[in-house]
Amino acid sequence: MKGIGVSGGIGIGKVLRIEEHSLTYTPYTVTDTAAETTRFHEAVEKFCDNTAQQAEALKVSAGEKEAEIMLGHISIVKDPFLLGEVDKLIGGGQCAEASFESMCDMFISIFAAAEDDVTRQRAADVRDVKTGVLSILLGINEVKISEAPAGTVLCAAELTPSMIAEIKKENIVGIVTATGSTTSHSAILARVLEIPAVMSVPDIMTSVQNGEDIIVDGSKGAIILSPDETALQTYAAKREKFLQERKELEKYRGKPTVSADGTAYELVCNIGKPEDAAKAMDGDGEGVGLFRTEFLFMDKTSVPTEEEQFKAYQQAAIILKGKPLIIRTLDIGGDKDIPYLGLAKEENPFMGFRAIRYCLKNRDLFKTQLRAILRASAFGNVSIMFPLITCVEEVREGKALVEECKAELTAENIAFDEKIKVGIMTETAASGIIADLLAKECDFFSIGTNDLTGYTMAADRGNSDVSYLYSVLQPSVLRMIKSIIEAARQNHIPVGMCGEAAADPNMIPLLISFGLTEFSVSAPSVLRVRKYIAGWTKEKADAVAAKAMSFATQKEVADFLNSQR
Ligand code: PEP
Ligand code: MG
Repeated sequence: MKGIGVSGGIGIGKVLRIEEHSLTYTPYTVTDTAAETTRFHEAVEKFCDNTAQQAEALKVSAGEKEAEIMLGHISIVKDPFLLGEVDKLIGGGQCAEASFESMCDMFISIFAAAEDDVTRQRAADVRDVKTGVLSILLGINEVKISEAPAGTVLCAAELTPSMIAEIKKENIVGIVTATGSTTSHSAILARVLEIPAVMSVPDIMTSVQNGEDIIVDGSKGAIILSPDETALQTYAAKREKFLQERKELEKYRGKPTVSADGTAYELVCNIGKPEDAAKAMDGDGEGVGLFRTEFLFMDKTSVPTEEEQFKAYQQAAIILKGKPLIIRTLDIGGDKDIPYLGLAKEENPFMGFRAIRYCLKNRDLFKTQLRAILRASAFGNVSIMFPLITCVEEVREGKALVEECKAELTAENIAFDEKIKVGIMTETAASGIIADLLAKECDFFSIGTNDLTGYTMAADRGNSDVSYLYSVLQPSVLRMIKSIIEAARQNHIPVGMCGEAAADPNMIPLLISFGLTEFSVSAPSVLRVRKYIAGWTKEKADAVAAKAMSFATQKEVADFLNSQR
């Protein structure tokens, strides 16, 4: 069965079903409203006591930050408005259950309708609080997760943070739920507790029996029910390998990114949403090397306003606490469509009216974004990056607009970083060929190998018929990367890489040898890339790079680099 893998690793164990309690009751009218109010407040107090105990347990098993999620439940139930309204309803003769439930449902429907994930998550928190208090009022006894034996895989329709708080880490080897996704609190907690978890398996509760054998593959988002002996052995081996690797990688957490001979590198992350900045920090990234802003535009039905964009960029800057944040201006077109912009259908969308080309022709939209980025620069270490640059004029025009926005903000008395850096993505063949000219026009380069490979090889990354050509290890692409890095170094500007190749173990020695200064990768890849970098000296990397660059075909390069890992 398939779902979403929200916490990596392999769990092999026996199913424990967490049944949804029936919280049904028949609402009744109360005459002694004072006694009913007392009964309600006693239930709230009991809920708070239980929750505080769970938070305490969670502080030990998961950490301070995670315990705060539980303490947040106490703030919800103690909200004076909520309590006041429930008191009024009870005062009017409704029973405590019905009074509390109707108020919670009101909050849930408001939060659930919100557009952002964070507010929607609050709906799940209120639901959790509602279940907790109603269970106490109705005297329901829950399955004690805290008493689950070693080797248990929890299966539930939904797993709330309070259920997770009861988990004894040493006993629970996996989690499977019918709902939930990567961003839900329980997913975050499962990751913190390092318990393999798969969510969004809709049929889970109709498919499993208590005590049944089950394998949870949290890395692939799959589960296997009643596995045979071969599957059990295969997955036991996979689990060993995963645990070994994880243990080894943890040694690199909190450490600087340095090669074996002590050269320091910047190891930052690629993000698509402001809240991903927190994931970058959790993953031990040293900042953000690429914030793909188009997702802010894709999630909406019209262009986000300056204020909306400012808030998003500011949020990321604040989370990063002064660590670098490179914000890439809108990179639409090609495979990224934004319907409300009404882009014309083109014969060759990847070569068409897109990214910086579109922005320079839609100055109002572009300036709105530049102003928002500039304003956010007052809150952190922010840089601007233009995508899809092919000629010097584009850089000059883009920078002129940045200057125009700066002048406007100064006139309006709005703070921004006067010295904000403006860099470009080198991701087209043209930018690679004139990298020396471009380096004189901007503050930094970031090599976008995803597009650079496609544009150099004239091979669409999405077309399987030409995928045999689409490889960063093609001699042409490697030469392009080498000359971009050389041009940057000769002109004394930093040069990073934010394409997928930055995390490719075959590429690391070449990038060290060529002189790359920054690696920007996905958050889960940070520790792995730090380990790869630590494995190379400049001398060894130079020797491997020289040999790799001497081959005439991609296959020879790939075979050679595979043999050097
Ligand atoms: C790239 O092209 O390498 C890149 C990082 O940008 P995107 O994948 O967003 O096009
Ligand atoms: Mg690109």
